[in-house]
Amino acid sequence: MLGNQPQKPVIPDLGMLRRTRLRSLPIHKIGHPRRVPFITFTNYIMELKEYQTIIEKTAVYPKEIGLAYCALGLTGEAGEVAEKIKKLYRDDQSLANNIRLGHIFEANKKAYSEFRENVKKEVGDVIWYCTALANELGLTLEEILQANYDKLIKRRETGTLHGSGDDREEVKRFETS
Ligand SMILES: [Mg+2]
Repeated sequence: MLGNQPQKPVIPDLGMLRRTRLRSLPIHKIGHPRRVPFITFTNYIMELKEYQTIIEKTAVYPKEIGLAYCALGLTGEAGEVAEKIKKLYRDDQSLANNIRLGHIFEANKKAYSEFRENVKKEVGDVIWYCTALANELGLTLEEILQANYDKLIKRRETGTLHGSGDDREEVKRFETS
């Protein structure tokens, strides 16, 4: 009977996903220069470079204004994320408080689920623009994540994780010299 058969995973028809065993996911190797898992489906892994290629194909805007388009779009979508959070605090302070305190099991499940889905969509839009911006500049997401990861590790080592600004290591060096 068809009804008793396990459902096949729904795979996006993008024609570029490679079949990989889920258990081979090297989650602990995020930041590895040659293999960065990103989006997982039941039996599929999309790597960052594949995601970048897809974004390139869905980036429909005048190329001559690409940089400005991506930067403004990114800011707009980041604003939409903030808007969702603002409305949560305005309309449902009880849920906001439960989320803040980590009491999600006490939260209104439906409202919490809807809120998460809405934020997920907007964060996805932010990631789209981040990726399109990276494409505009010929940067790979892998090198961006690697550089950010390296920076955080360095800051942890120098005890400057809680500071602010990009030059905080220099400031610390100055202060201690
Ligand atoms: Mg949006």
